[in-house]
Amino acid sequence: MASDHVDVLIVGAGLSGVGAAVHLQRECPGKTYAVLEARGAIGGTWDLFRYPGIRSDSDMYTLGYSFKPWTNPKAIADGDAIREYVRETAREYGVEEHIRFHHRVVRAEWDSATARWTVHAHRDDTGEDIVLTCAFLFTCSGYYRYDEGYTPEFPGVQRYAGRLVHPQHWPEDLDYAGKRVVVIGSGATAVTLVPAMAERAGHVTMLQRSPTYVISLPSRDAIADALRRRLPAKAAYAVVRWKNVALGVANFQLSRRAPGLVKKFLRRAAKGQLPVGYDLDRHFSPRYNPWDQRLCVVPDGDLFRAVSEGRAAVVTDTIDTFTEHGIRLTSGTELPADIVVTATGLNLLALGGMTVAVDGAEVDLASTVAYKGMMLSGVPNFAMTIGYTNASWTLKADLVATYVCRLLRHLDATGQQVVTPLAPDTGDLEPIIDLKSGYVLRAVHQLPKQGPKSPWRLRQNYPRDVLMMRHGRLADEGVRFSRAGAPVPESPAPVA
Ligand SMILES: Cc1cc2nc3c(=O)[nH]c(=O)nc-3n(C[C@H](O)[C@H](O)[C@H](O)COP(=O)(O)OP(=O)(O)OC[C@H]3O[C@@H](n4cnc5c(N)ncnc54)[C@H](O)[C@@H]3O)c2cc1C
Repeated sequence: MASDHVDVLIVGAGLSGVGAAVHLQRECPGKTYAVLEARGAIGGTWDLFRYPGIRSDSDMYTLGYSFKPWTNPKAIADGDAIREYVRETAREYGVEEHIRFHHRVVRAEWDSATARWTVHAHRDDTGEDIVLTCAFLFTCSGYYRYDEGYTPEFPGVQRYAGRLVHPQHWPEDLDYAGKRVVVIGSGATAVTLVPAMAERAGHVTMLQRSPTYVISLPSRDAIADALRRRLPAKAAYAVVRWKNVALGVANFQLSRRAPGLVKKFLRRAAKGQLPVGYDLDRHFSPRYNPWDQRLCVVPDGDLFRAVSEGRAAVVTDTIDTFTEHGIRLTSGTELPADIVVTATGLNLLALGGMTVAVDGAEVDLASTVAYKGMMLSGVPNFAMTIGYTNASWTLKADLVATYVCRLLRHLDATGQQVVTPLAPDTGDLEPIIDLKSGYVLRAVHQLPKQGPKSPWRLRQNYPRDVLMMRHGRLADEGVRFSRAGAPVPESPAPVA
């Protein structure tokens, strides 16, 4: 059993964990830290997913870090380029040497007497159990299970003689050239896979139960290209980042306030890229409003082009059963398939699956309330990174890391050691994620809640969060600062 102590322990070496480490080095230079990473590589999502066409669906000027300009000309970037960007950041800022790979954190125990976390990790490579202690625990463990994607129970699937693949575990040897492929799903992964596979496959069918909003955006940003030629990289990056933030906020607010108008716009845009007479209502007109679920972005209309050229087709129907050679639909239609890809989503997982205890009492995540979307009521010296659902993840991840650094400096400056969020004094709580996507609805009951007002309410609004997280008050009504040895402060009893 190895033992160790650091000021800050970061869990996860993905986009968020590497970013958090850089913020910590720059904004709290005296602090010691380590990053525990369950896998053997840096990059998280961008290392795990290897399916054809894997790419971002938000622009890299906002998915990139605030401190490191994205200089690749592609605004909607390939998975490889994003993975390399995260790795390059870790190398450039010396984060690599702080990462301990193959350390899966399984449990964290807070002790108020010593104001320390004891963190238990398991090494999958050596079988060892490791114990570390830290003053502050910062989880950057993403939001879904790495070991298993979500696949619903499909009737008759055992009978199917072709190859069944989940995009989260893409087989390196999968040869789909000339093959008939069915991709089940309508989310970001399905709309990425279909045109990418259609380049080599015989034919690709996207089989969806119900449609999703799909919008085509240019993969290159002409304004960014022009600015990059005229301004230094950092200045151009900052301008384009704010331009894209402003466009994103405007798009989201308009969708919430005038959904009918946005629906019409999206419909017209899709219509212009599909063949005359195409059944747009059936395949591309969702029943929900824009932004009740994430919009799917397709770069340069690649999905629409594949459909228009007959290399791919969209079928909106439900599965009656798998057969030996494909799928029979409820309408009676048979879809022959050599390969079926189940782009049916993720299994949400909070805090990378670790259990948490405070002074010997187990923390039930579902009974905690998130404070500023990044700390939990009743859990001292703890932060978690959960990105935006309506904008790039990193915009929020950067703000969370900066806020943690502000808290750490505040503790040092005031001679205190502990910061504990309280729950609000009202029982009007809501799910922490307001999307109605299947993967969210399946797990939302296990997740922390959000409160009715600031600082417990998630605004999903970057400019407002910049004011709150970079410049707002640290000692507000939602938090208590104390010294080591003091008991965890009680939250007020909720008034329903
Ligand atoms: C296919 C796909 C495409 C996406 N595209 C976009 C996009 O275009 N724009 C956008 O904003 N968001 C996108 N997202 C969301 C995406 O996950 C975030 O953009 C971002 O990658 C999250 O980074 P992260 O570091 O927080 O989490 P992750 O990338 O999930 O990394 C988490 C890391 O923590 C490690 N870890 C987890 N649990 C433990 C544990 N218990 N102990 C130790 N280590 C642990 C994991 O191994 C992993 O390395 C996408 C997600 C997926 C799945």
